[in-house]
Amino acid sequence: GETSAFLLIIVGFLMLKYVVIKREAAISMILTVPVVVFLVPDTPEIVGHAPWVSDPFLYLIGGPSLLMAFFFLTSPSATPNTKIGGLLFGVGVGILSVLGKMYTTIAGVEMYSILIMNFLVPVLDYRKGVFQFKQEKAAVQGNNYSVTSFYATNTTKPIIDIVGINVPSFEAYDELPKFTEFRKILSENQDKATLLQKITASELRCGCGGAFMPVGKKWELAIANTPKYLVVNGCEGEPFTFKDYFLMKNYPHLLLEGIAISAWILDIKEVYIVINSAYDVCYDKINRAIDDFNKTFKDIKISFHVQYVPDLYILGEETALLNYLEGIRGEPRLKPPYPPEKGLFGQPTVINNVETLSWIALLLNKPDLFKEGQIKLITLLDDVASIQEVRLGTTIENIIKDKNITAIEIGGVSGGFLPADYFHTRYENKELSKLGLNIGSASIRTFTKQSEVLEAVANSVKFLQQASCGRCVPCRVGTQALDQFVNKQLITDIDKKALEWISEVSHTMQQTSTCGLGKTAPTALLSYLKYFEGNKE
Ligand code: SF4
Repeated sequence: GETSAFLLIIVGFLMLKYVVIKREAAISMILTVPVVVFLVPDTPEIVGHAPWVSDPFLYLIGGPSLLMAFFFLTSPSATPNTKIGGLLFGVGVGILSVLGKMYTTIAGVEMYSILIMNFLVPVLDYRKGVFQFKQEKAAVQGNNYSVTSFYATNTTKPIIDIVGINVPSFEAYDELPKFTEFRKILSENQDKATLLQKITASELRCGCGGAFMPVGKKWELAIANTPKYLVVNGCEGEPFTFKDYFLMKNYPHLLLEGIAISAWILDIKEVYIVINSAYDVCYDKINRAIDDFNKTFKDIKISFHVQYVPDLYILGEETALLNYLEGIRGEPRLKPPYPPEKGLFGQPTVINNVETLSWIALLLNKPDLFKEGQIKLITLLDDVASIQEVRLGTTIENIIKDKNITAIEIGGVSGGFLPADYFHTRYENKELSKLGLNIGSASIRTFTKQSEVLEAVANSVKFLQQASCGRCVPCRVGTQALDQFVNKQLITDIDKKALEWISEVSHTMQQTSTCGLGKTAPTALLSYLKYFEGNKE
């Protein structure tokens, strides 16, 4: 190569075998280049004068082809996500680079072939778009389907039967005529600033989407930028979380009222409601509620777009969701700018979770609701699945009650594990963060045996490795490394050296990953080692 073909081949082999990279484009380019060199006729138009130019093997090892294949075509962000797209990308680079080299005298012309193919990535990934359309159809028909992420195929999460329901605040809403509060706001022409003040001052201090950003703060930032879109996040890609599903299925009018009130206060005319495509029943319910809303409020002009999104965990990250809605890869964006400044289609955008918007409607209907502290919906999974209203600050033992439970997972796959000794802890972020945990997706899963906990830890690590979008190195490599560690090593018998290694990998992921997935991915393993194996470091 331009440096040493021998060393490049060794490094390339090691990368393809051991490093977390995309392989398809590199391999197809290496195979394409000699074929094209062989096929191009030896005519006077060929202006590449080096003697090796027409020998396929010497061309491959003598020029920059290997360097390009191993160090450019393995890029996780500049090459297609789909396998077929990757193969076509490599073929395209192979053809263009050889033809450029042979028929032009432009210095470094091979690099232009990569740039040209970079432009074509959305087209090469278009297959994904077609596939997505099929998913939407399949979901409407209630069929299963699968989607492909950077690493693996994620199947649709199974919808668990929700057996227990304890949501008195929501049941009270059923007694009211639909859209009562919004009707009142319109008939009294209530002042928007006063309504905003009510929400900001309420105990709904935090949103309910997992990031716990204060609602008022988010809205104030958006209002300063004149927001154009409201995105209602009903992705809920967490495998064991169903609170948004429950709300969309059972209280679609309440959600619609929360959306309408928010759009009214924020002066927004366009609303995107995104629904996990596993939730086909919610799709119909929401559309019916929109019809009712439009019939009731003929003079209110809000455009509602109801859209399915694939059951991918990463789409719960709000900027990844915005990218997906714009028709590009569902990968998180670098922040700032934040969505209230520059969001959907480059416009200031407010993104709120389904639960947050539902609480807004309830709060304005019943201002005393949060007087004694914020209430939150959680998914509790013990013998059966249930949706529970929980006042933040109550103890964990008050929530789970069953005395036979010896451990819990708290906060979903990016959360952690706690043994019964810690069940006196208050269920609120302030207290949980002292233990290295948080409320996260607001699910609590219970266990009675340590072996079940160990299995759940391994599953969480594996899930996040597959869910990583692969864009940034600490998360892409770190999730893979933790997964390999958990699968190869008995984490019940861990030595000091291995502990130091885990600590270093985890610290790097927490400090340098782009989004919450990479930052929280080590939590399950770290909490297990700390609270179940007694490794306090
Ligand atoms: S942290 Fe992981 S999921 Fe987030 S952007 Fe980086 S690679 Fe993607």
